[in-house]
Amino acid sequence: MPHSPPTPQPHGESMAQATLFEKILAGEIPGELVYEDAQCAAFRDINPAAPTHILLVPRKPIPRLADAGEEDVGLLGHLMVIAPKIAAAEGFGDAFRVVVNNGADAGQSVFHLHLHIIAGRPLKWPPG
Ligand code: 5GP
Repeated sequence: MPHSPPTPQPHGESMAQATLFEKILAGEIPGELVYEDAQCAAFRDINPAAPTHILLVPRKPIPRLADAGEEDVGLLGHLMVIAPKIAAAEGFGDAFRVVVNNGADAGQSVFHLHLHIIAGRPLKWPPG
């Protein structure tokens, strides 16, 4: 579904537009949440690539992995610790894949950093 373009702000002020995933985390757009804490939340992908396909999203709207800085080390580590717990809660603690697409040419379509957690079918290597 297309999302509306940014609305111009009065007096030339720029106000950051909430990302799609911020809106899902805020409950403004429906999403099937499976996990949340103070730093991140996870919900099912609307177009799953496997029986389990969950997006783990930091509440901080870092656009791409390449935009993360030293100040984000703890947050990124937290995501990597939580991802296996989510896979395990889905029943796939021993066989899951975590993917981050960085940049449009690598398949990124939502510019709010997210980890894809994919499981529930044989996962070939290398991925396409
Ligand atoms: P990317 O292509 O940026 O790595 O991943 C974005 C993911 O977000 C895609 O797998 C896509 O299916 C998913 N997605 C896009 N829009 C929505 C939405 O409105 N709701 C949910 N739950 N997932 C979405």
